[in-house]
Amino acid sequence: MIKIMITDRISSLPIAIAEKKGFFEELGLDIDLRSCIDYKGIFSLLESGRIDAGELPTLLYVHDCFLKKSKVKRLYKGLYLSHSKLSFYSRNFFEPSDVLVNKTFTIPVPSELSIERFFTEKFVENFFPGKMPKLRFVELPYYLMENQLRKATTLGMSGDSNFYPFLNKFQNFEDVENKPNSYDNNSIPESFANTLFVFGGQFVSKFPSESDKILRAIRKAIKYLNEISKNEIDELSTDFNLNHFYPSYRIGEFKQILLANKLDKSRIFSVKGNASNIHSLIQDFFFRTIKKQISLEEINGILQFDEIWQAIDNTEASPVRTFNFKNPGAEYQYSPTLVNYRKQNYTRHLITDAISISLDILEGNIHSRLNVDETLRIDNRVKIHINNMLDYWNAEIFKLNERIIELENFNSILEIKLDRSSVNLQYSEERYRYLFEFSREALIIVDADSGALLESNLQFRLMSGYSRMDLSRMKIDDLVGGQKLSTSLYFKNERSDSMLHIPDGEIILRDGNRLGVDISINSMLVSPKKRYQIIIKDNRERIESERAKHEFISNISHELRSPMTNIRGYFELLSNDSLIRSKPENSEMLSIIDKNIKRLSFLIENLLKIERNQDESEAESMEEFDPAIVIEDVMHMNSHLSNEKDISITADLERGHLIKGIRFEFSQIVSNLYINAIKYTEHGFVKLSLKSDSKWIRFTVTDSGYGIPDKFKSSVFDRFFRIPSESNRKIGGTGLGLSIVKSLVEKMGAELKFQSEEGKGSSFEVEIQK
Ligand code: ADP
Repeated sequence: MIKIMITDRISSLPIAIAEKKGFFEELGLDIDLRSCIDYKGIFSLLESGRIDAGELPTLLYVHDCFLKKSKVKRLYKGLYLSHSKLSFYSRNFFEPSDVLVNKTFTIPVPSELSIERFFTEKFVENFFPGKMPKLRFVELPYYLMENQLRKATTLGMSGDSNFYPFLNKFQNFEDVENKPNSYDNNSIPESFANTLFVFGGQFVSKFPSESDKILRAIRKAIKYLNEISKNEIDELSTDFNLNHFYPSYRIGEFKQILLANKLDKSRIFSVKGNASNIHSLIQDFFFRTIKKQISLEEINGILQFDEIWQAIDNTEASPVRTFNFKNPGAEYQYSPTLVNYRKQNYTRHLITDAISISLDILEGNIHSRLNVDETLRIDNRVKIHINNMLDYWNAEIFKLNERIIELENFNSILEIKLDRSSVNLQYSEERYRYLFEFSREALIIVDADSGALLESNLQFRLMSGYSRMDLSRMKIDDLVGGQKLSTSLYFKNERSDSMLHIPDGEIILRDGNRLGVDISINSMLVSPKKRYQIIIKDNRERIESERAKHEFISNISHELRSPMTNIRGYFELLSNDSLIRSKPENSEMLSIIDKNIKRLSFLIENLLKIERNQDESEAESMEEFDPAIVIEDVMHMNSHLSNEKDISITADLERGHLIKGIRFEFSQIVSNLYINAIKYTEHGFVKLSLKSDSKWIRFTVTDSGYGIPDKFKSSVFDRFFRIPSESNRKIGGTGLGLSIVKSLVEKMGAELKFQSEEGKGSSFEVEIQK
C-alpha cells in the first residue's frame, strides 16, 4: 500500500482522477490516497517518512532541498501538477506614487512559504522601485482571502484567478501595459509557479519501478483531463463526487480551470533526475527569498515560522482526513496524532535542560544559562530564546537593584535628616524650657483632665512661694481656692490673645495669704493630652495703674470742667446781647463757638469712657471654615476617650456651611463640650449634630449622662467651678472647660444654651448667626 497525500486544491486533480479512473489499479498499484487541508501536514508527513508521496508547492520543495543539503535529497520531485502565471491583484488600480510609503499594508497569502507570497513580494519590490511600502503578510485560508482583499489596508495579493475566481473582480496587474519586470519570463522561471508531485526519498530508492508507475498513471490522468470536453468534466465531477473533495470550487469551474492550465507532460522530471539541475533553476528566487527570511544575523534571534511549524505542528494531530476514492460518500476521518520522534527527542532535551536551569536559578545562580551550539536546530534556537529572555530579565533585575540601592541611599539621607531634626526638636524644646522657666511672667501648666499642676516656672514660684515639690502635689483647685468667679467679668477687649482672661482673680500663696491676680488661660496645642498654659499676673500694679489713670482722668475732667463752666456762662451772656447779635458776621462766629463748646463738654464728660477702645487686630486671624470638618477632626482626635465606655457616639453633621471666626477657638468649643459629654456619661449615647436653617447654624452636643442638678446650673460656666460630688471628684477636671466655651462663644458673637436634667443627661447648643 502506497500512501499519497494531496491537498484539496485543484492542482491535485490529476492524482484524484488517476485514482478515480482506476489508472493506478491498471498498473497494479495499491494506493491509499488521502487529502489534507494544507501543505504543512503533507510536508511534515513526507519529512518523517509517514507517507510516500504528496503534493507540494515548488517553494516548499526547494526549501527542503536547501535546508537539508547534507543528505541525498530526501524528497524527489515527480512532476508538475499545475503551472500558472500568477499575477498581482488589487482592489483598485494604483500608481506607485498613490501608495503611502509610511503606512503598513497587509497582503494575504495562502501560506508563508507559498509561491504566491514570493510573487507578491517580487511584484511589490519592482512596482515601487526605491520606496517599498511596509508590508505585513498574513497567512489566510482561501475562504477569507476575498474579505481581506476588500479591506482598505490590504494592498493586494498574488494569485491565479483560476484558483481564486473572485480575483476576476479585482484589478489584475498583468493586464497593465507596463507590467512589472517580475512578470518577465526571463527573470522568473514560469514553471515555478507550480505545484509539484513529490516523492519521499526513501520510497524512490526502495521502489524505483513503483515510483515510475505512479508517475505514468498520473500523466495518463493529465492527458485524459486535457482531452475531455466540458460536459464530460461535469459528469466526472458528479460521478466522482469531486465537489465533495474540492469544496472550494463549483463543478462548472473545473473545465475552465483545467483548460486554462493545460498540463504539459514534457515537464516531467525523471525520478533519477539530478538534483543539481534543480539548483540552477531555482538559484535566483530561492536565495532572494530564503536569505531575506533567514539572514545569518537574524538567525539567532528569530525563529522562522516554517521551522516552528516543522518542529511543533507535526507533533499534533495533523489536519489529515481520509477520503476514500473507492467509496466516495465516506465521511472525513482524522488520523491519530502524528509523532515526529526526532522532534520529540529535541523536546525531551529541552525539557531536561529547562528543568535544570530553573533549579539552578532557584538556587540563586541567576547567571546560569543553557548551553547552545552553532547549529540551527530548533531546540538550539529555543535555547537561545530562553537565554535571551534570562539576559533581559537579569538586566531588569539589575536595574531594579540599582533603584533599590538608590532608594536605600535616599532612605539613609532621610534618616540623617530625621536625626538632625530630632536634635533640632530637642534643641527647640530646651529653648522653650529655658524661655518658660525664665519668662518674666509667672506661668503654670495644668492637666485639663485632672487639674494637676504639671509645671511651673521660676517667676511663678517666686510669686507664690511654692517649691516644685509643693506644686507637684497640687491641683489648680488648691491654687485658686474654690473661688467662684462669675463669667460676666469677662471683658471683651482685654487680652484677646488668650482664650480666657480672668481679671481680678485670686490665688492662695504658700503662706496662706491671697494674692489678687489676673489670669489668662490658653489651650496648648503640642500635647496629645489637653493642657492649659496659665499666665498669672500680680494685679496690684494693674489695679494701681488703672486707679492712677482713673484718678488722673477724673482730676483732669474736673479741672477742665470749671473753666468750661465759665466759658459757657460768658458765652451765653454775649450771645444774648442784641447789639452783638445784630451784626450778621457775629452771629456766625457765635454759632461756631457754641458748637465747639458743646463738643469740648462732651469730650470732657466722656473722657473716662474713651480710654478703652483698642485692638481690632484679631479680625486679621478670622477665617471662614466649615464647622462640620472641624467637628469631625475633634471627634477623630478624641476617639480614644470612649473606648472603655459603653457609649454609642453618633454625629449628624451638615457639611458645606461656612462660619467666620478662629478655627482653633471653634475647635476648643467643640472639644470641651464633646470631652465633657463623654466624661460625664457612663453609658448610653453621645450625639453631635450640626444643623442649619436660613438664619442660624446650630451645633449641639447631647448626652445621656449624669446631668447637672438645677442648683448648679447657674454656676457651671464659672471659672474653676466643678460640681462638688463624689463621682465628679473621681473624674477630675479643672472647672475651666465650660467657662472657656462660654467666653469663646461670646467672642464669636454666638449664643450658648443648655438644658440638663439630673440623672438623664445634658444638651449644650451653640447657636451661630449666619
Ligand atoms: P471640668 O470638666 O474640667 O470639670 P467644665 O468647666 O468643663 O470643667 O465643667 C464644669 C462642671 O460642669 C463639671 O465639673 C461637671 O460637673 C459639669 N458638666 C460639664 N459638662 C457636663 C455634662 N455634659 N454632663 C454633666 N455634667 C457636666
